[in-house]
Amino acid sequence: MDKKRYERPLIKKLESNMPNKFGTRTEYTPKTHIDDVAVSELAEKYGSPLFVISEKTLRATIKKARNAFESRYPKVQFAWSYKTNYLDAVCKIFHQEGSWAEVVSGFEYDKALHNGVDGSKILFNGPDKTDADLKKAITNNSILHIDHLDEFYAIKEIAGELKVNAKVAVRVNMDTGIYPMWDRFGFNFENGQAWDVLNRIMRSDVMNLVGLHSHIGTFMLSPNAYAVAAKKLAELAIGVKEKYNHEVNYIDMGGGFASNNTLKGAYLPGQDISPSIDEFAEAITSALISSNFEPNKLPLLILETGRALVDDAGYLVGSVISNKRLSDGRRSTILDIGVNILFTSFWYDHKITPAQPFTKYTEDTVLYGPLCMNIDIIRNNIDLPLLNKGDKVVVHSVGAYNMTQWMQFITLRPKVVLIDLEGNTHIIRENESLQTLLELERIPEHLQEFDL
Ligand SMILES: *Cc1c(COP(=O)(O)O)cnc(C)c1O
Repeated sequence: MDKKRYERPLIKKLESNMPNKFGTRTEYTPKTHIDDVAVSELAEKYGSPLFVISEKTLRATIKKARNAFESRYPKVQFAWSYKTNYLDAVCKIFHQEGSWAEVVSGFEYDKALHNGVDGSKILFNGPDKTDADLKKAITNNSILHIDHLDEFYAIKEIAGELKVNAKVAVRVNMDTGIYPMWDRFGFNFENGQAWDVLNRIMRSDVMNLVGLHSHIGTFMLSPNAYAVAAKKLAELAIGVKEKYNHEVNYIDMGGGFASNNTLKGAYLPGQDISPSIDEFAEAITSALISSNFEPNKLPLLILETGRALVDDAGYLVGSVISNKRLSDGRRSTILDIGVNILFTSFWYDHKITPAQPFTKYTEDTVLYGPLCMNIDIIRNNIDLPLLNKGDKVVVHSVGAYNMTQWMQFITLRPKVVLIDLEGNTHIIRENESLQTLLELERIPEHLQEFDL
């Protein structure tokens, strides 16, 4: 029989804060397995920290989202937002599930091509498309979502030189009742900028207006804001039809639907307050259906939703390095997970659970990362049982933005593994090593030698 471990008794204040409508329940169960694979085995085999992606959760989430829209609207197309997670294996799952690619840089554009996406199924967004990017995209028959007038002029010139018709859409920003308003991207609806660029496109003989686009913000908690945006885009599309007798093929509502994460400072957990994909779908599709499109001429509806589709499929496994008491008596636990790999801890209170059974005694804890930097805080306060050196933890819902915004800082990036539908694990990105960095560095001749 194993010797029982001593746990120091702890006097705890009764909960003094207001219970929410679900009470003050803080107990939880350990996360010992991800899709039936033991977390301890994953860490042993692939190291810690380790990103883990569940193919099962990912495919189920995509199917649910498709179903939410396709059951309400006749023509729907998803386009995967590469910047949300552009690991090739993740992108390929999206493409296998029918998603086109949505990219915001030349590098992402090349990645989509490399993944085998046909140029005509790549939507090119963002303010920074170089002349070379534009030329490549126009040649490949991709769709350019115009962000500003300088881009309009560049496309006009390049398409003129190539003697081809560039497929373009206009990114529109607008007041949807959400403030601060995202008015830095695209052309404003209310002040007439959007009409101005539409007129220029319609009068150009080297551009074909195929769509209207908006991406009103990110981690949006209001489905109604999308209904407002859909109505305004529909109004523009119908206006273009009336004025120029030209039909746009699609209306692209962008992304930004909230995931199940909890924003810092939120009163209730994200799982309880983030609207479901059905609520977003209902708001958008009913706005389009009740607009003045002829019933048999509804445009294709494109969605570029990112975080809401991939967040829950991603986990980050980590280990406890040490426990210590802060000068004010609070418990702190140091993990091998830092803000360099868990970038989203700057704005989310991530759900973090131990990966092994624990006793019922919990304590308010500060979770630090391993970096020698004061900003390296994973959770400012979280109620956790005592964790011992070497114990494993699982951070939930980390699939969006972490594997693209991670930094090579003090420690290197860890491995990413995918658990497939049969429960087999695959490395989909190797961990970095000193060699990874050295490959990029060059030493000038006069710095080769030193003598200490
Ligand atoms: C980032 C981005 C998305 C995806 O946003 P999410 O908040 O991850 O859903 C979609 N479209 C555009 C243009 C973007 O820049």
